[in-house]
Amino acid sequence: LPEEEKDDPASLKPRPPIVTVMGHVDHGKTSLLDAIRNTNVTAKEVGGITQHIGASTVELNGKKIVFLDTPGHEAFTSMRSRGAQVTDIAVLVVAADDGVMPQTIEAINHAKAAKVPIIVAINKIDKPEANPDRVKQELAEYGLIPEEWGGDTICIPVSALKKQGINDLLEMILLVAEMQELKANPDKKARGIVIEARLDKGRGPVATAIVQSGTLRVGDAIIVGTAYGKVRAMFDDKGKRLKEAGPSTPVEVIGLSEVPEAGDLLVVVDDEKKARELAEARKEKMKETRFVSQKVTLEDLFNQMQQGNIKELNVIIKADVQGSVEALKQAILKLSSNELRVNVLHEGVGIITETDVMLAAASNAIIIGFNVRPDSKAKDLAEREKVDIRLYRIIYDVIDDIEKALKGLLEPEYREVYLGRAEVRQLFKVSGLGTVAGCYVLDGKISRTSSVRLIRDGVVVYEGKPASLKRFKDDVREVAAGYECGMMLDKYNDIKEGDIIEAFIIEKVQQ
Ligand code: GDP
Repeated sequence: LPEEEKDDPASLKPRPPIVTVMGHVDHGKTSLLDAIRNTNVTAKEVGGITQHIGASTVELNGKKIVFLDTPGHEAFTSMRSRGAQVTDIAVLVVAADDGVMPQTIEAINHAKAAKVPIIVAINKIDKPEANPDRVKQELAEYGLIPEEWGGDTICIPVSALKKQGINDLLEMILLVAEMQELKANPDKKARGIVIEARLDKGRGPVATAIVQSGTLRVGDAIIVGTAYGKVRAMFDDKGKRLKEAGPSTPVEVIGLSEVPEAGDLLVVVDDEKKARELAEARKEKMKETRFVSQKVTLEDLFNQMQQGNIKELNVIIKADVQGSVEALKQAILKLSSNELRVNVLHEGVGIITETDVMLAAASNAIIIGFNVRPDSKAKDLAEREKVDIRLYRIIYDVIDDIEKALKGLLEPEYREVYLGRAEVRQLFKVSGLGTVAGCYVLDGKISRTSSVRLIRDGVVVYEGKPASLKRFKDDVREVAAGYECGMMLDKYNDIKEGDIIEAFIIEKVQQ
């Protein structure tokens, strides 16, 4: 894919905030979204039918706010686990008669993990049982201290049913958005994220995308996941035909070759031919990478921390009883040091669910299960998303595992282990791919996952990874001494006959 052009700060213009509504089931997420949409029908739109395209734009005092139509932290985190974060602000709905409930806590933790600011809508204040103060008390226990109590969480009393407090809520959203200084450059080729897609009988594949930067125009050639095409027509959430759509605009796009998936990136490219080529190359690549994608394990995370890529270890704790959850959390947090932070993103009593796995996938976290197991859906998802679920029955084992890994991290010692050597005997130029080195393994072995260095007249001219390792036409994991193989090097084609390829691995010295 073409990389996004760098923006000159002067080219950045303010853009509307994109908001997701979250909260416990039945606390009024859907009703609140309806109330927001209906109280904001401007005069000229009256009589117009709101189209459900996946997102809606409302206006207050000439300023726009975009709401995603699918409420809930599950949808939010599922997008995030695909690398797509479209939400700028989370509105947390808490029913004033019911207070903070398990999914309220989940929603708080999911929004926090994504570092998205939370505005609380205390809903159903029309009910006689409503007790907003108790809700605030409970929120404070979860780190959301209301502004009026000296904290920084904005709480707005509303009634979705009676349409009370809706404008106050919208004003606060605009205020928080202003503080975030949300900006994008509208004057370049568009990039966006698909939030919904379906096959329409008459119109073919239809995708709703939110433009993140640039301006999308009718006639633009686009690639979306493995789909491609030309924007034949665009519509907004009022069903109005659009010629162009700038940053933060949700638009229904028609003209794609197939139905993309929510979370797919939409990118404008030079022409349709290019779009098709890229889409096809992607399809091929997906076939290959399905088998090589690596599982994110506790060890991998430590390795990444080691290399300075991440400075934090994120964990999710699930246990059979509250006492164990607390004990584990305290013990794990104690392992945190100045150099390395351990964050507990979410904790709870009960089995490990799909939502837990999604949060872990989105936040590069591991899941610790204590006397609980994942349900079958969670297990499948963990396998697909490569999430490390660690099951324990003894608290000491959990601490011991993490402590050991952290210790290894703080006192690292690595060594290189020699694997083998091959000589380059023939070269094949494959157009579009690069140079394949026909090699003969002199001693030891060459492994697909090893590191390699290319040595010419005793001088190292390249160090990296094999891009492929084949015997005849077949991909192989390793080739032993006395055999021939074909090898390509990652991002390096300047190989010469007579070069020596040395294979090695880096391994951690056991403490
Ligand atoms: P969701 O599951 O969070 O999307 O909740 P819904 O929007 O479906 O609402 C659940 C129930 O609460 C419905 O019966 C609504 O009519 C009711 N409800 C929602 N908002 C209010 C409100 O402000 N006041 C009262 N009294 N009932 C409400």
